[in-house]
Amino acid sequence: MSRSASDSAWERVREALARVERASPFYRAKLAAAGVRVAAVRTPDDFRRLPLTRKSELPAAQQTAPPYGPLLAVAPERIASVAVSPGPLFIPRTAEEPTGIEALHESLRHMGVRCDDVAHVTLSYHVMPGGLRMHRAFEAFGCRVINGGIGNSELQAQIASTLGATVYVGTPSFLGTLADAAAQQGRALSYRLGFSTAEALTPALRAALQARLGIELFDHCGEAVIGPLAGECSAHEGMHLHAREMWIEFLDPDSGAPVGPGDSGEVVVTQLGERAMPLLRYAPGDVFRLAGEPCTCGDPSPRVSFVGQVGGIRKIKGVLVHPAQVKNALSVFPELGNFQIVVDHPPEARYDRAVIRIGCDAPQTDLAARIRERLRAHVLIQMDVELVPSVQVPSQAEPVIDKRAK
Ligand SMILES: [Zn+2]
Repeated sequence: MSRSASDSAWERVREALARVERASPFYRAKLAAAGVRVAAVRTPDDFRRLPLTRKSELPAAQQTAPPYGPLLAVAPERIASVAVSPGPLFIPRTAEEPTGIEALHESLRHMGVRCDDVAHVTLSYHVMPGGLRMHRAFEAFGCRVINGGIGNSELQAQIASTLGATVYVGTPSFLGTLADAAAQQGRALSYRLGFSTAEALTPALRAALQARLGIELFDHCGEAVIGPLAGECSAHEGMHLHAREMWIEFLDPDSGAPVGPGDSGEVVVTQLGERAMPLLRYAPGDVFRLAGEPCTCGDPSPRVSFVGQVGGIRKIKGVLVHPAQVKNALSVFPELGNFQIVVDHPPEARYDRAVIRIGCDAPQTDLAARIRERLRAHVLIQMDVELVPSVQVPSQAEPVIDKRAK
């Protein structure tokens, strides 16, 4: 980002702060309780001293005075639509607010979606905001859109086949279910692209679905309250951040300090512009790794990979690691069972030591070395790999045992 673009984005953060202090009773109280005066926030460093807003605070605040509680920052008659997210959390929006469609369009262009595509949306259209948002985005992009919704796999396979759907939108697991249903009915599916979201797209699942359906899958992530965040391009090496009208920080979960390319941090979002329910330093608890190198596709926007939820994250050898990420990396080895990572810091040693014990009953000779290499490449830490009989690592075993002195 050029200096002037960054300066003007920062000016918009200051505008958002002033507006929020004026219009949101929730933030007026929160900032006052933290002893923060918005007028004294002059630099991004000052801004980082403002308290975070955790996801659990939102439904709790709304329940004090339903439906919106002190979070509402506009006159109620200006609310144009309300999305509902589990909690329940009511997410009001004015007609003028960004819908997330611009960010989705950027992802669709990266994925190679065309105006003549027929998009089959299989996310939920009720209670969750995803289905309708995606439907509107594909329609505005110029595609024909099928409102599939969730479940009813036999009927949905029939619809996708009859209408010649070329783009699948939904979770990777439901795509597998649709493929099964279509095979049972003797129907062919004509998807060429898949917009995979709301669920982890593991390498093994991706490879299996792509081989079975002749489809190219693109991973995408978003969050219920703040909307679409990032999507893959054809390089499939991380997701480009496409979020708009937001000031995004990536922070070390322990120190709160900003992290740079090559490191992992918790995403913290401040919405810009006028909002019915503005969010200031909203931290949904998701940790991402920032790519260190520019993407080969030429798009200079930063790329992120999802690491995991902040609660399950451990810092091992200075790298943030989530058990789900390890499981994901190991999914390409079908012969492996459960795993357990043991981290300790021997008193005489300079660094943490991490050993991963993995259940495997018939290991090939080079398997441990291949696992070590894959973990180094995908989880970014060196671990000693011990392959043990699978009964020694039961499924209820803690994924990480931390023996380091606290
Ligand atoms: Zn790219």
